[in-house]
Amino acid sequence: MYRGRFAPSPTGLLHFGSLVAAMASYLEARCAGGQWLVRMEDVDRSRCQPRYAAAILDSLVALGLEPDEPVLYQSERNSAYATAMEQLGAKVYACSCSRKDLGGEETYGGRCRRGSEAGKPVRSLRLKVPEEVICFRDAVQGWFCGDLAKAPGDFPLYRPLEDMYTYQLAVVVDDEAQGITHVVRGADLIDSTPRQIYLQRCLGYRQPHYLHIPVVVDERGQKLSKQNLAPAIGGEDAALVLWQGLAFLGQQPEAELRRAGVKAIWEWALENWQRERIPRVAESPMPAGPF
Ligand SMILES: [Zn+2]
Repeated sequence: MYRGRFAPSPTGLLHFGSLVAAMASYLEARCAGGQWLVRMEDVDRSRCQPRYAAAILDSLVALGLEPDEPVLYQSERNSAYATAMEQLGAKVYACSCSRKDLGGEETYGGRCRRGSEAGKPVRSLRLKVPEEVICFRDAVQGWFCGDLAKAPGDFPLYRPLEDMYTYQLAVVVDDEAQGITHVVRGADLIDSTPRQIYLQRCLGYRQPHYLHIPVVVDERGQKLSKQNLAPAIGGEDAALVLWQGLAFLGQQPEAELRRAGVKAIWEWALENWQRERIPRVAESPMPAGPF
């Protein structure tokens, strides 16, 4: 059974960039006769707020996107993440390096592999990565490879000072726990995928299929972050936004659909959805519209 998901971080209201990920994951799941789930990636309690999670869910429902199961909140999943950490055992080690110590290096060279510096607090628990190139075939972007030792090197799974598990660990544990078979998300996360595949292998999990859609950028090539949609978007606006989302995803919706209702747009989308039409690029500009 196909099980897909949309996993936003509630650091703000739903914006167009995450809406297209929601739409693509929903359409892929529905067209495969599968289920579609929503998960709130709110491990970072300093940046995420329950009111944004609620507003995102309201927007999704107003746009006709209702999950098949109750929403999973990562902020309630620490015991599952702790169990996975235990399972990783000796593959994990304590690192006392601060951001300042690392001086903005992109690759962690493994300086605490043989023990962290005495007298300094442990800042992260890192996963040892092998000298290995991990490749996967993305349903839109094609073959993609990552050399773990070169980037990012041993990566953090847990930050004890904040009692916070990292995105990489949480996403892998939750995709397995929720039985996710297909991950559809923005191409800004494609670099993380080889890391997540390695983590899945360490934990004996199944590897889901991946599909990375282009990231939405504005006319200057900047990633969208502030173009928030109204929290309770509905009516004509909802239809317009969905139409734009379909256009962004390369689906060529008919112009008159713009004025159709939400229900009519979804009917059209489910009948006409073609994954092959999604642009095979890492980023793509937002289509012209009312924003
Ligand atoms: Zn270190």
